[in-house]
Amino acid sequence: MNARLEADEASLAQVYAAIDALVQYAMRRLELDVRDADWARNRIFELFGLESYAPTGATSDDWLPDEPLTRLCEAAVKTGLCMQDEQADYADAVMGILSMPPAALQNRFGDLERDRGGMAAMRWLYDYCVANNYVKQAVLERNPRFDAHGLTVTINLAKPEFTTMTKAAASNAVAGGYPQCTICHANEGFAGRARRTLRTVPVQLGGEPWFWQFSPYGYFDQHGICVNMRHIPMRVDRDTFGHLLDFVDRFPGYFLGCNAALPRIGGSVLAHDHYQGGGGTLPMHHAKAWKAMWLPDCPDARVEILDWPGTAVRVVSRSRSSIIAISEIIREAWIGYTNLSLGIVCEDGDGKRSALSPSVIVTERGYEMSLILRNNGVSAALPEGIFHAHPEFWPIKQEPIGLIEAQGLFILPGRLIRQLGEIEDALVSGGALPRSVCEFELEWRELTARLGAERGAGRGHDRASVRAAIRDELGSICVRILGNTAVFKDKSRTADFLRGSGLCDWPEK
Ligand SMILES: [Zn+2]
Repeated sequence: MNARLEADEASLAQVYAAIDALVQYAMRRLELDVRDADWARNRIFELFGLESYAPTGATSDDWLPDEPLTRLCEAAVKTGLCMQDEQADYADAVMGILSMPPAALQNRFGDLERDRGGMAAMRWLYDYCVANNYVKQAVLERNPRFDAHGLTVTINLAKPEFTTMTKAAASNAVAGGYPQCTICHANEGFAGRARRTLRTVPVQLGGEPWFWQFSPYGYFDQHGICVNMRHIPMRVDRDTFGHLLDFVDRFPGYFLGCNAALPRIGGSVLAHDHYQGGGGTLPMHHAKAWKAMWLPDCPDARVEILDWPGTAVRVVSRSRSSIIAISEIIREAWIGYTNLSLGIVCEDGDGKRSALSPSVIVTERGYEMSLILRNNGVSAALPEGIFHAHPEFWPIKQEPIGLIEAQGLFILPGRLIRQLGEIEDALVSGGALPRSVCEFELEWRELTARLGAERGAGRGHDRASVRAAIRDELGSICVRILGNTAVFKDKSRTADFLRGSGLCDWPEK
């Protein structure tokens, strides 16, 4: 009995030390005011039902919260203060206590923006959201990521998992539940979805209240979403272009875009109006112009058909009004365009089929508004979508190709790590395609052909060249998937479509 008691006391001391370290971490990284330190520590004690405490003087020099949080959770489990499967929930609660309340954070953001500009304020906010564990940077850094065939390919290992049934139920909340959906502003601090550490900042778009938040499992640097304060359906119309421009006027180092507002060709949350964006550029931002055109009414703008596997047009101008006018002309023309010989039907018994996905960045040329032409029509042969990834590529990617992927950053499912690992082993040993991954027949055929040509068929290969070949193959398939999404397979058809909308060829010099 005494030995047990001693063990418990030792574990409790570890809990106290971990809490002391986290409180000190929060003063250093989360701007926890020293005057709030005892108060915050006491709220953590309340969370764990602790009624006594012996100061340990423990500190933390960690830059990310992962290690001190893990130490706390493991000590809490050992002491019986929480269950093994409750660790993520307790971690969320602890970090929620240690984070600034939304109003204080927004004031801080506003001060920074006034003193040092919008981008410096965003940088601060991003670092804050990493430091308070909302953005899971350590998880993101584990995702494989490489460039191939002009695209960036990542395999996303971060799949949030529900640790309790209550949270799973909350996540599946139907309309009328609380919050109404997973991106509603009411999620800020909501324990039911482990959003205690979510912090947002207000943004005005077109004079309406929106807000910005970073993505916990972002796909690229400072990836976030801009969300309408109102829970209204996704839409892309003339106002959308102005909204996107408003955003980059304030945050010119970010891009912001909008998924096509139709199912199967865009985002998963169509019920709530929102945009996606963030720092850095995506491969399509660097695509060259295949052909340039212009609109006589807007001579200060250049319209480029992109040399890109999908169908995309870029409107370039320093004039907001020209960007909006041309984008709206192209949008209206596209959503009403039908060409049966190309399989394009703009509307059928199931409603509208064509949609535009716009995305804007600011460069030295001015605004660059990319317009990606999408269509979600189906046929007997392609019931999942004529312009969706075709079935032979589904082992690699079956989900809809949204805005980020259409711009050349592919997010492939985590299961590929195991599957491609088996394929890699088989290629290294010179074996056959394993049964467990027999659906990768196309990839296997292409890989063995390529490696065979290098080393002679029927023999094993060194692991480094197999890995390089697999990455190259993934890039090649992603290019073909983008090709599937192209509504005009031949760029001269895109030019014909634009001429039909009133645009003219750029005068040759
Ligand atoms: Zn919502």
